[in-house]
Amino acid sequence: MKTSRSGLTNKILIAGPCSAESFEQLDAVAEGISSLSPNYFRAGVWKPRTRPSEFEGVGTLALDWLSQIKKKHSLKVCTEVANPNHVEQCLKYGIDALWIGARTTTNPFSMQDIAESLKGEQIPIFVKNPLNPDLKLWIGAIERLHQAGIENVYAIHRGFSLTDNGCYRQTPLWQIPIELKRIFPSLNIICDPSHIAGKSEFVESLSQTAMNIGLDGLMIEVHHNPQIAKTDAKQQLSIHQFKSLLNNLIISKTEENVLPEKINILRKEIDEIDNKLIELLSERINVSTKIAQIKKESNISVLQVNRWKKLLSDRIEYSNTKGISEEFIKEIFELIHEESVRVQDEIIKKTKKNR
Ligand code: PEP
Ligand code: MN
Repeated sequence: MKTSRSGLTNKILIAGPCSAESFEQLDAVAEGISSLSPNYFRAGVWKPRTRPSEFEGVGTLALDWLSQIKKKHSLKVCTEVANPNHVEQCLKYGIDALWIGARTTTNPFSMQDIAESLKGEQIPIFVKNPLNPDLKLWIGAIERLHQAGIENVYAIHRGFSLTDNGCYRQTPLWQIPIELKRIFPSLNIICDPSHIAGKSEFVESLSQTAMNIGLDGLMIEVHHNPQIAKTDAKQQLSIHQFKSLLNNLIISKTEENVLPEKINILRKEIDEIDNKLIELLSERINVSTKIAQIKKESNISVLQVNRWKKLLSDRIEYSNTKGISEEFIKEIFELIHEESVRVQDEIIKKTKKNR
């Protein structure tokens, strides 16, 4: 197996264990991965845990281990900070970059305190998305750092906590980092597939998706012996698994000017289909408006649950014959129906005012 970063050369690579457990553990992981030249070696020093009885990291002692790792393996090191005291300690120990955890991004008070404690520093800061799928909160955290004069701010997509996360620990909701990229094209956004996956077996495929959508790098949890890891044991990759993941990754070009002409032709077709979809949606809304008038005159409620249930199951059944995913059709029709209910509700309210 090749042990180079191969196609990942233009991407940001952060790797290392979930938590710093001992100097020997950090040393073993650093020894195993230093030949891959990660941009940063990661390890959590203060761990945000759900229950206080769980391992909460060793604290400042581990900052000393990280500064030794930095020298011994010529690796830049990074860790998570959640308050100004953490920031101060990290700066004192020469930590090269910091990341803000998902639970901290969620809290604007904490973000403001951290941003203020960083004023005048030029250390790179990686901001994980908040646990809930709230893009504005993520943007707000980034803006607070920009306002404090930090120039090297990066984003980390680590998945979102929904009621149902399917097979993953957290749901990727790729459209959120894509939207962040649309709003801030020059912001580097990397992906943390480990915390999305929750299980090591999903990490490679999530990493590939992150590369396929053009994200700017990866933060991956790696442990020399994941089975005995004190935190996130199931999702950490062994050194061998990490090397094989990097070897298997296919990195595509992202520049628009290298597109083959055939793509442009097909894109024109897509544009036409999309316009037809918009026309059909507009027709559908017009019909829905007519129905609203009749409902009003006949004093029938806007929502007819049985009709909605039948409509959705019919559309799913039909989409099955076309090989379209049920989940996709369900989501689209939920949106279409929501809009229909909104339009009908508006019409009934308007006629009420005119009475
Ligand atoms: C971590 O990276 O170890 C971590 C705690 O991440 P998150 O804040 O994404 O849960
Ligand atoms: Mn972790």
